[in-house]
Amino acid sequence: MREHPLQISRRQLLGSALTCIAIGTSAARAEQLPLLDPATTQARALKYVEDARKASGATRGSSCANCSLYQGKSGAATGPCQLFPGKQVTAAGWCTSWAPQM
Ligand code: SF4
Repeated sequence: MREHPLQISRRQLLGSALTCIAIGTSAARAEQLPLLDPATTQARALKYVEDARKASGATRGSSCANCSLYQGKSGAATGPCQLFPGKQVTAAGWCTSWAPQM
């Protein structure tokens, strides 16, 4: 019997459902991450500050919210950063690794 092109197997359906659950769980986990402490060694090494306006060396208008390494939702006050796994940075923050979004 020929399979209809739009039919999916139970295995494919289960795989898709598990993927959706994993993405949802990961997003929920990201929102629960603790805020990065600017006093930590890694944060200090990159001159991370929670308010870009107080950063010496920051290009005017640059902040975590418009950095290519920022993974927070648009409009959120905080979000994960690829440089600080397991932590959140402030959207208004900044560090010396700031890179413009493409
Ligand atoms: Fe903020 Fe970008 Fe530095 Fe991460 S790499 S702390 S998002 S400026």
